[in-house]
Amino acid sequence: MSEAIIYPARDRTVEPGQTRDFAAELNAEQAKAATHGDGPLLIIAGAGTGKTRTLVYRVAHLIDRGVPADRILLLTFTRRAAQEMLARAERLVGGNSRRVHGGTFHATAHRLLRKYGPSAGLSKDFTIMDQGDSTDLMQLSRAQLGYASMGKRFPKKETLQYVYSRHINTGFSVEDIVRDDYGQFVEYLEDFTKIFADYTKRKQERNLVDYDDLLLFWALMLEASPELRDRIGGLYDHVLVDEYQDTNTLQARILKGMCVRHSNITVVGDDAQSIYSFRGANFRNILDFPKQFAGATTVTLEQNYRSTKPILDVTNTLISRAAERFTKNLRTEREGGEQPWLVCARDEQQQTRFVVDRILELHEEGTPLREIAVLFRAGYMSADLEIELTNRKIPFEKWGGLKFLEAAHVKDVLAFLRIIENPRDEVSWYRLLLLLPGIGDATARAAIDSMASAAWQSGAFGRFSPPPRARAAHGALVSLLETLRSGQTPEDAQVALEIANVRRLYDDILRERYDKPEPRLADLDQLQVIAAGYPDRATFLSALALEPPQASQDLAGGSKEDEDCLVLSTAHSSKGKEWDAVFLIWAVDGWFPSARCLNSDEGTEEERRLMYVALTRARNHLLVTYPLNAYSTRRSSDYSLDQLSRFMDKGVRDKMQRVALGSGDSPAVNVDTAPPAAQVLDLRALLRSKFGATS
Ligand code: ATP
Ligand code: MG
Repeated sequence: MSEAIIYPARDRTVEPGQTRDFAAELNAEQAKAATHGDGPLLIIAGAGTGKTRTLVYRVAHLIDRGVPADRILLLTFTRRAAQEMLARAERLVGGNSRRVHGGTFHATAHRLLRKYGPSAGLSKDFTIMDQGDSTDLMQLSRAQLGYASMGKRFPKKETLQYVYSRHINTGFSVEDIVRDDYGQFVEYLEDFTKIFADYTKRKQERNLVDYDDLLLFWALMLEASPELRDRIGGLYDHVLVDEYQDTNTLQARILKGMCVRHSNITVVGDDAQSIYSFRGANFRNILDFPKQFAGATTVTLEQNYRSTKPILDVTNTLISRAAERFTKNLRTEREGGEQPWLVCARDEQQQTRFVVDRILELHEEGTPLREIAVLFRAGYMSADLEIELTNRKIPFEKWGGLKFLEAAHVKDVLAFLRIIENPRDEVSWYRLLLLLPGIGDATARAAIDSMASAAWQSGAFGRFSPPPRARAAHGALVSLLETLRSGQTPEDAQVALEIANVRRLYDDILRERYDKPEPRLADLDQLQVIAAGYPDRATFLSALALEPPQASQDLAGGSKEDEDCLVLSTAHSSKGKEWDAVFLIWAVDGWFPSARCLNSDEGTEEERRLMYVALTRARNHLLVTYPLNAYSTRRSSDYSLDQLSRFMDKGVRDKMQRVALGSGDSPAVNVDTAPPAAQVLDLRALLRSKFGATS
């Protein structure tokens, strides 16, 4: 038989005439940025001014200019953002653009570390720990060094993890961070360092890499070895970064290292939208860019293309209260349109009913559900709405605040896979040993010690002799591990099969633990479905650790892009997106801004920027709602009379149309004594849709 011929896939070509006419599709400033030649470029501009669009055109321009697509690196905040941008670039320059390397800093670091890590003393098969795992490992160090007995007086594992992570990401000394954020623990400064040293040693011994290490190791490879810097920096001719305001100093170091040879770096961002300081991001990073990269060209954009004028009036006013900012007020040519609504509801139920009714109304008027979003400060704030949407059979997906992978039962099952993948993964061993009947802390530690002294050989756990009450569980686990280890021949859906095997042991434990195990069992079914989409265990575990699914649909593997479905999102996860109609619910002081963030001026300023991000997502309709009363067991008071968010001050309110909801069938009442002349509220429409009706 003759050898099979390979028929290569053809690059999609772009129809003549369909190519980008930069002058028609971009304004002069955007076009200048998109076609900028070599050297550092900063685009700093407000929301909706076309920063992301310009970046897409710049990618297209570079490819047009002859830069090989695979020598372009596009760094974004989420994987989804990179995919969307590259899909848009593909429409401009064809399939060639698919070879652009796009992704998050962490995913890119991971890819590079698998390849170059071995040249830098890192073993190739390391396991990535997510933040929860890092905290657990920190706890092990804390306990092992004997701090557990100090109880509350000593920093908790989360505090230790926070200080550590902040230290790595910002470069501030441990001492400064403790003094600033945890003054009560200053006397323990030396202990912090001891624990961090132990944590670092443990990671090395167990072949674990945490999120911060991913970035740090990437930076260090570039900084500490000229050879690696040449090889890694030499991979790309151009580096482009979206949402630069949310990067930190470690990421700035990485970019510096990547661009030593050519300085071809483009960053875009808006200091007024910087919302990740809790992860060590610092909006000064974007202001300092011209200092970091000498000779940088700066482009500013002032025309907003997203929102109507009435919406922009509100968002401009809101952000004009910021203590400091670089970007200016925006203008738009989108005159007319409805004034944003400020809706006062009696309580959460009424808020929910209003939101659902108004969504249906917008939908009936022709707005697809996927063009509508409901935003909130924190994931739990949409609970009531989710129930109502489900009851009324309105499809929705939720972004941010999704805790699927953090759910205990999902982590439990993953722990089994992880010890097969990396037998030295102490955190996972500890987690799963504690699950087993008859095994407590002491036995778990003894088992781990005995495996450690046997150099974590695969049979080591089998040779550990457990106390009598744990014998049955020990035997069951040993036989499960043997089954898992024996299935080494790759076959389709191998990982799903492994999960099925794990569940033969684990489902009973789960049934034992929870009164209502069904939803959790359903989660595990779902995990199996996801796993079936991955070629092997290592890829599956890395993908889950690195790119936790954003939306429930990501979990099922497919995207609901074609399906018409409403989006519920935390304000954080709405960054960079836009919708025809945006609702912001729970605009209540203490909720948004979150009470937790109000102890410092910086905290309050960041909440303001977050509110700005949320409200600037709207194209044509913006509706802000707040309930007057809330049962707030969450805040440990029984019943409270809530106040409108402090960011909705008089100046902002004056640009909005105030709406109070009537009860039952009565019409909604406009409570403003002097309604603005431009008011366009349709009271009859409100009456028709019976806001506040109990049905
Ligand atoms: P954000 O700060 O929220 O990330 P951004 O500055 O990245 O916003 P884009 O998302 O790129 O803004 O653009 C906002 C909207 O304006 C998009 O729908 C985009 O297609 C549109 N837009 C931007 N520039 C132009 C232009 N020159 N002509 C027509 N539409 C434009
Ligand atoms: Mg953008």
